[in-house]
Formats: sequence, C-alpha cells, structure tokens
Amino acid sequence: MPDPKQILKKYFNFTSFKGNQEQIINRLISSNGHCIVLMPTGGGKSLCYQIPALIFEGGTIVISPLIALMQDQVDTLKKKNIPADFINSTVPPEKRKIVLNNFVRGKVKLLYVTPERFRKKEFIQQITKATISLLAVDEAHCISEWGHDFRPDYSRIAEFRELLKNPLTVALTATATPDVQINIINKLGINENEIEIFHQGIQRPNLRLETSDVIDEKETLQEIYSVLEKYDGSGIIYFSLIKKLEKFSQILNDKGYRHGVYHGKLEPKIRKQTQRMFLSGKQNLILATNAFGMGIDKPDIRFVIHAEVPSSIESYYQEIGRAGRDGKDSLCMLLYNQEDLYTQMEFIKWANPNADYYSGIYNMLNANIEQVNSLGINYLREYMSFKDKNDFRVETVLAILDRYGVTEGSIENRNLELVAELPQELEDDARLEDKLLRDNKKLLSVVNYFNSDTCRRTFISDYFGFPDEPPCGNCDICDQGSQS
Ligand code: ADP
Ligand code: MG
Repeated sequence: MPDPKQILKKYFNFTSFKGNQEQIINRLISSNGHCIVLMPTGGGKSLCYQIPALIFEGGTIVISPLIALMQDQVDTLKKKNIPADFINSTVPPEKRKIVLNNFVRGKVKLLYVTPERFRKKEFIQQITKATISLLAVDEAHCISEWGHDFRPDYSRIAEFRELLKNPLTVALTATATPDVQINIINKLGINENEIEIFHQGIQRPNLRLETSDVIDEKETLQEIYSVLEKYDGSGIIYFSLIKKLEKFSQILNDKGYRHGVYHGKLEPKIRKQTQRMFLSGKQNLILATNAFGMGIDKPDIRFVIHAEVPSSIESYYQEIGRAGRDGKDSLCMLLYNQEDLYTQMEFIKWANPNADYYSGIYNMLNANIEQVNSLGINYLREYMSFKDKNDFRVETVLAILDRYGVTEGSIENRNLELVAELPQELEDDARLEDKLLRDNKKLLSVVNYFNSDTCRRTFISDYFGFPDEPPCGNCDICDQGSQS
C-alpha cells in the first residue's frame, strides 16, 4: 500500500501532516474504521479523505452541500493531477452520464456530489455499480436537525450508505456540539462503538476574543472606529439586519472609510465582484451579513467585528474562524447590545413557522400554483394574511420545501412546481416546537458567552465538547484575571 506521506508530498507538495490528519488517515486505511473529524475551518479536513481516496482501490464519494465550493475543490484537485470530478444540478445531463461512467470504471477516484443526487433513479442505478472504498460526508453538521444548517437530504445518508453497501465512512465538520456529534453518528446508521471521534479542539491561539457592551448605535460606531484605527489590514464587520448594515455603510462612507457591502439582497453579480475585490486585497473592509463567508479562504483577515449579536455560538465561531488564517494576531470583537436579542428572537420566530402555516402554504400552492408563479411572492404573502413587514415565514417555508424536495424551481423564475407530498416532519407540531426551543437555547448560549466570567476560548471549547482547556491568555476575561 502506498505511504500516505509520499502521497502528501507527491500530490500536495507538503512535507508533514497537520493536527490529527495522520491518525485519521491511518485509521481509515489501516483498520478500515469509521471516523468523525472535528477540526476548525482551515484545519485541513479535506486531506483526511483525499489521501485515502488516492490509496484505496475503489472510488471515494464525497457528499458536499455547496455547489460553488464543490467546483472550486475539484478544479484545485484537477490542477494537481488528481482524478476528481463532480455531479450536481449545474452539470448538463450528458456530462453527468460521462462523469458517472468514469467513476464506475475507476477512472475518476473522487466523486463530489450533493446529497440531492440520491433522489435520482438514474444516479442510484449507476452509482450502485461502482466499487466504493470510502464515503466522505463533508460539512457533516448538516445531517443534524440540531445543527445550525440542517439539510433534509443529508439526513437520509444512512439510506444512501445502505444503497452503497455500508462503505467505510468519514464525517467531517468544524462545528458540532456533543449533542450534534451523537446525532450525526446515529443518522449515519453507525454504532457508536464502531466510530472514532477525532476532536482537535478549537485551537486558534492567534485569535484574540473580546466583547464589548454597547447601549446604542453611537457606542457601536465608537467601538468600530477604535478597531479600524488600531488594526491595519483586512477586516469584516458582520450585521444581522440589512437595514442596519446600510445605515452603517453610509456613516462609514461619510467618514471616509472605503468598504464593500455584501448581503443576500444584492445581485449575485455584484456579490461576486465584492467578494473578488476583498479576496484580492483591493478592498480591505467589508460590511456583510452572514450570507458572506462560505469558502472565504483569505489568510490575512486581521479583524472580525460583530456589530450585532449573532444567533448562535456555532455561527459566531464559524464567522470569526475566517480571521487570522495566516497565524498572525487577529481580533474577534463581539459588540453586545441587549436590544439585538429582540431582533434575534424575532428572526427565530419567523424562521420557525408551525404546522398549520406549512400546510396552509402547501395547500395554497397545490390549488393555485399558476397564479403564484404569475403574481409573485406577494400574492402568497397576502394570502397568508401578511401583516408584519419583517415576517419572513413565507420565505422560510419556501426554502424548507425546496430543501425537502417538495418543490422544484422558484417563484422568481416563475417555474415553481410541487413535486412531492408535504413530509410528515413538517406537519409535526411537537417536532417544530422542539426546533424553536433549540434555536432559542442557541441564542441563550451567546448571552452566556457574553456574560461568562471564564476565559472566552474555554467557553467555546466547552460548548463544542472539548472541556478542560487552559485559559487562553488572549481574551478580555483573561486580561482581567492577569490585572487583578
Ligand atoms: P478545512 O476543510 O478543514 O476547512 P482544508 O482542507 O480546506 O480545510 O485545508 C485548509 C488549507 O490547509 C488548505 O489550503 C490546505 O492546502 C492546507 N493544508 C492542509 N493540510 C496541510 C498540511 N499537512 N500541510 C500544509 N498545509 C496543509
Ligand atoms: Mg472543508
């Protein structure tokens, strides 16, 4: 069997493994043992399955949620002469057939797919002909309803595993609380004693964690100015509300702070352009909502400010994880205004419609889909007796119906279609209430983070099931300790 280190050198041109990479790879290739990999973003999770994929006789399937990331990853691998390819909805049917065929014949060793592929009969028919040595589930927190980015198709991975005759499996994520870790294992259909958890902790010693209590926008601005004056280089300021982001953008502009703006309501073209300017260093500062960041691998981000309270420790940790990838000192500043909690609680409410609301929209679509397509989303909103302009339950339901594969197409493109029944989970009020409760608890954890009198990093480590970390000596709480 080829030596993993040689492969590391030959294909990736690295001389040594990082963190737990070597142990994980060894467990996969030598003892054929399932693994869960918990490693911070940028920690090097991909190599944990890419190297085994190059060693194994059979093929490796990588399940990944994001089409854009998939494309980037495969392009990078191809440049290294690694036989990788991908299949998703953007690939034309003819091309899909060719790629799938190449995988079945062993010409492609690493096949990236979205879990939605497994909805397609043609795909299943072909893929089950292949010899599969490894199944890699990237962004594995998407499996869990308790995670922060649940994707229903991910929750059927145990079924896919069975179709593929239960191959060796590695699940990878940067953010999973102990609850979510167990939930992932269960949903993979693997016994807890057959899988090993590799937890690398959240070691990012160069990230300085700070919080500051602010009572109004004036104080928020002051805090932002003081960071901008102190820190040279690139930075991100995160907002929850587009309205607030725009307001701050105006003020910063007037003060002469040049910056880019990134949020979900901007045209995809503009967003791409802003992202490119930031990545290339032409634009140092960016004001963004959480729509910004997926796949942002810029090494020299010197600060990440949260101008508003984030919805969970998971998303906070993910967003600050973009700072200081080059290992140099970087600041992560959370500005805590208690009033933001109301905004977040509203968000949580609108993001969790009840069963009646789901069935209301479903039935309406069932009866009047042509009208909805021609009159647009406002017609649907009015029908659902839309009163509050912040109420985005209609959007929530449409997004979730899409994720569950109940609908295809979209109202914007006037081609929304109902293609399946309403799944039972969306008619189950107890389950929906449980989700609402969990979302509120996640928000509460952010409050606890702010109020905590123990080291910030220790708090986050504990939250992700990595207890007993020593104080970091690089946060506002540790500063207080060393002063007294
Ligand atoms: P993750 O998926 O955990 O966020 P990636 O797998 O994308 O991280 O890797 C992040 C970066 O680390 C990549 O640029 C990769 O080339 C680099 N990297 C991974 N393993 C090593 C290694 N052993 N030595 C040096 N660099 C590495
Ligand atoms: Mg990754």
